[in-house]
Amino acid sequence: MSELNVKFGANERSIPSPATVADAIKAFDRDALKSALAAKVNGEEVDLNKELTASDEVLSIEAIDAGTRDGLEVIRHSTAHLLAAAILDLFPGTKLGIGPALMDDPRYGFFYDIIAPRNLTEEDLPAIEKKMKSMAKQNLPYRREDIDKAKILDLFKERDEPLKCELIDEKVSGTASVYFIDNSPFIDFCLGPHVPHTGKLKAFKLLALSGAYWKGDAANQQMQRVYGTAFATQEELDAWVKQREEAEKRDHRKLGKQLDLFSIDDDYGQGLILWHPKGGVVRNEMERLLREELEKREYSFVYTPHIAKRDLWVTSGHEGNYSDSMYAPTSIEDEEYRLKPMNCPFHIGIYKSSPRSYRDLPQRYSEMGTVYRAELSGTLHGLMRVRGFTVDDAHLFVRPDQVSVEVSDCLDFAIKVFETYGFDKVKFELSVRGDAENKGYLGADEDWASAEKQLAAALKDRNITYERIEGEAAFYGPKIDIKIEDAIGRVWQLGTIQLDFNLPERFQLEYTGEDNQKHRPFMIHRALFGSIERFFGVLIEHYAGAFPLWLAPVQVAVLPITDRINEYAEAVANELKEGGFRVEANLKSDKIGAKIRDAQLQKVPYMLVLGDQELEANKVAVRERKQGDIGAMSLEEFKEMITQQRLSRSL
Ligand SMILES: [Zn+2]
Ligand SMILES: [Zn+2]
Repeated sequence: MSELNVKFGANERSIPSPATVADAIKAFDRDALKSALAAKVNGEEVDLNKELTASDEVLSIEAIDAGTRDGLEVIRHSTAHLLAAAILDLFPGTKLGIGPALMDDPRYGFFYDIIAPRNLTEEDLPAIEKKMKSMAKQNLPYRREDIDKAKILDLFKERDEPLKCELIDEKVSGTASVYFIDNSPFIDFCLGPHVPHTGKLKAFKLLALSGAYWKGDAANQQMQRVYGTAFATQEELDAWVKQREEAEKRDHRKLGKQLDLFSIDDDYGQGLILWHPKGGVVRNEMERLLREELEKREYSFVYTPHIAKRDLWVTSGHEGNYSDSMYAPTSIEDEEYRLKPMNCPFHIGIYKSSPRSYRDLPQRYSEMGTVYRAELSGTLHGLMRVRGFTVDDAHLFVRPDQVSVEVSDCLDFAIKVFETYGFDKVKFELSVRGDAENKGYLGADEDWASAEKQLAAALKDRNITYERIEGEAAFYGPKIDIKIEDAIGRVWQLGTIQLDFNLPERFQLEYTGEDNQKHRPFMIHRALFGSIERFFGVLIEHYAGAFPLWLAPVQVAVLPITDRINEYAEAVANELKEGGFRVEANLKSDKIGAKIRDAQLQKVPYMLVLGDQELEANKVAVRERKQGDIGAMSLEEFKEMITQQRLSRSL
């Protein structure tokens, strides 16, 4: 019997061969095996069942415990396999598509695309989940085999899996790994890694069913997508379910209807937002705050059209790299035009309209720029994912030596704005090029080095702690991503501050330097929200519809107790309106309890309850939406109080 030389962390020892990765870990530490779901062999992630070969003479095995993101991904991906196996058991003849883990979707943790012999409904999910649980209890091993292409195709043809065969045809040359679950006809052609056996899957839940197309293409077969999620422990799953329930209560689609903020109407098109007057008030206030800050920071306001000649998109590179997200060209007098998916090329046009000298820089152009993206109907979601949206966009054209100062101001801008909305947990991520060798990054090495250094300096300058992420930069430059945490702990990726070496090159942008020579400016794409629509959705859910006074569509509800008081109520309302407040007087003959309930449902910040007493004393009885009754005061005092709150945009 031969021996394998195994390294585990700093330790090294020999174990009898043949051995699996699990055997190797066990040789060192039984506890490590308990928490290990996968391991790295020769730097490559494999699952625990992989047999070690003689060529793996020295192994570096690193246990991935269940708490890590990698570990969770293995759990979720493995649960997707379990789901498919359970469906095959309950609905023989089901054809399988793909079944990946989802790591960044707040709603789901994995899915499997299937075509079952009959259409599944939500009512089928409990039975499938039950089957999965019973399979989990049996500790069925996940087995991996490396098989050559012809044999893999045979295996899947035997099982009559045409879609899998199509994938194998496209993706495999030579050999590939196939995963088996013992006692199940289910096999999957996949890279893994997976858990050693189904018993490792302790906390999962099926969540939803939706339509999907094979390969995401509407021209292909229609499939059904079964969604679920999984965690390492039941406690984590329970906490997630609780957060999800809270999120459901705050669902912006539900609140958007209840508060009459916006709608999406199939007669106009999915993914197209109709902003109602009350939503329009909030948007106007959102834009007002931005405009004030933009003016303070000496941005210029520009306005650009929604379509441009197709050739422009060829120059910008969108036609080549971004075409799938753009709407088809339309012809105007034999020339082709396309709707804009981004605003950048238009701002470049403004920069290029005159010669620029080093003294003219920076140029800061801002625009609430509406763009259109071709999204599949299955991916649309309320305000969060739409087909037309407005970017709080800005492009800065700067000299290379100005990057740090300008980015620093962008950061200050972002922090100021998000604090005003009450997001005190703002996270910044600096994505840099990392290993530059084989990634196809554009731009000179010294530009990258200088840009990365200046972005980091800007973050440091603002005393911002940030995460540095290697290898996540765009191919055209490093960037800072902005994320916020909302009231129930969900993290939203919003805007970005993105350096770009590519577009200035493609459009041959120039400025004349102090040396009288032509130089190329750097370009910075900067958006705080990314999409006004999406940020509005985030705000609705963050506040659970109860906007702070400065944003509230109706700030004060005036509620007379009887008809006798209507005249006084109107006078009070008018005086507040003259002060610039958004006021509604409810002069209906309803009972006061009903009027208060109604204002409460509309989440109006202040209610003024007016009866004979108030009329006689020339006062207003004030109800705050959360605290309830806060006592009577003169109208002047009340006005003073809310004027302060409006001015300071207090929460
Ligand atoms: Zn797999
Ligand atoms: Zn841009």
